[in-house]
Amino acid sequence: MFETVLIANRGEIAVRIMRACKELGIKTVAVYSKADRDCLHVRLADDAICIGNSPSAESYLHVPSIITAAEIANVEAIHPGYGFLAEDAHFAEICESCRIKFIGPSPESITKMGNKSLAREMAKKAGVPIVPGSEGVVKDKNEALKVVEEIGYPVIVKASAGGGGRGMRIAHNDLAMATALTTAQSEAEAAFGSPDVYVEKYIEHPRHVEVQILAGNKGNIIHLGERDCTVQRRHQKLVEESPSPAISADVRKKICRMARRIAQEAGYVSAGTVEFLVDGRGNFYFIEMNTRVQVEHTVTEMVTGVDIIKEQLRIASGEELSIEQKGVRRRGAAIECRINAEDPDRGFMPQSGRVNLYIPPGGPNVRVDSHLYSGYTVPSFYDSLLAKVIAYGKNREEAITTMRRALDEMVIEGVPTTIPFLRRIIEDNRFARGDYRMNLVEELLE
Ligand code: ADP
Repeated sequence: MFETVLIANRGEIAVRIMRACKELGIKTVAVYSKADRDCLHVRLADDAICIGNSPSAESYLHVPSIITAAEIANVEAIHPGYGFLAEDAHFAEICESCRIKFIGPSPESITKMGNKSLAREMAKKAGVPIVPGSEGVVKDKNEALKVVEEIGYPVIVKASAGGGGRGMRIAHNDLAMATALTTAQSEAEAAFGSPDVYVEKYIEHPRHVEVQILAGNKGNIIHLGERDCTVQRRHQKLVEESPSPAISADVRKKICRMARRIAQEAGYVSAGTVEFLVDGRGNFYFIEMNTRVQVEHTVTEMVTGVDIIKEQLRIASGEELSIEQKGVRRRGAAIECRINAEDPDRGFMPQSGRVNLYIPPGGPNVRVDSHLYSGYTVPSFYDSLLAKVIAYGKNREEAITTMRRALDEMVIEGVPTTIPFLRRIIEDNRFARGDYRMNLVEELLE
């Protein structure tokens, strides 16, 4: 196992990774921007290095500073967390050439899966159903209209290099198609540096179901079951759970098998997530594979007892997975709420400022992953995620009851958060029945 690991991230996920490292006896090195001097991940690390100014481009995304920090601290490996450089194949390559282990898949796997239209082709080759749509990139309106002739409206135009719900536009007719195409292209160019987009059938009010994969060094690939992330606002996940309350045992078995097959086809190593959309009739379609740990990995950990970050560390250090497929037991149900510094009454506008008082919930079956403390100042430069509250129960009903109690207990004073809105979701009857689709949040907001 590694002796020292640098964590090229901040906030809750940096804290989460450090916890796993400490339990494995690994020394941790934090990096931080000027805005993050007082962030919890800096305090919890064994060593911490300032890597630059507050904007991410000058710190957490600035590869030379991170590599320099890694060399000064003499670490053997870098854990990228999620976001920032986690899915940057070029960064993974630079780590490799500096003889620093990148804790994640190979640069080739990241490139393959990072391009969604290539990933679609790979899924197709593996015999996994994909959303009907264009073969590869669509250049102009004429090409797009040809695809529409085959699949019909509505369609969604998506950035090939997309992520975080950006670079996506829905079109219901030819007129809207032209605008959808140009706006998606320019948004993609601005956000990802590539204007490539492709066209897919827009599945109305689907469910988002994804499968957690762990792939060891010997081609051994296991799955840890599925997560349901259907509660979204503008393609951003708000609440996630495992197991999915809405798929049959048969569909579950199939998508887990398909997810393994995609990872196999890609020659994948490390933790990863294969995402699917499921329609009202139980048809499922591959949409993308994420080659990193996800925000919502926690619910899988709660129901399986497997520490996904530790497994990532084991794989990267050349060790074997600590479990085999037949050893994976899933028990009970877990739900995660993402607590963001956003004001639900003002269009979920991101908020910053001083947290005067923070009281996290506790008690049986509650887990909180967060970098908050009373007196912490939320900077305006980064993602608005403040905390993840995870509730576990013997069954979904119990998990919901515990989540309600946890959200009631939780206090964050000084900065508006999404807690009041999350309470409404958890108390909603459709949510309680598990009978909801992608439009739940929209309906609640109306
Ligand atoms: P990103 O990488 O930006 O997160 P994804 O491809 O994972 O993009 O899609 C994110 C979300 O966008 C999905 O969870 C779903 O809500 C919506 N979405 C994507 N593709 C489709 C589709 N073909 N039909 C309907 N909704 C879609």
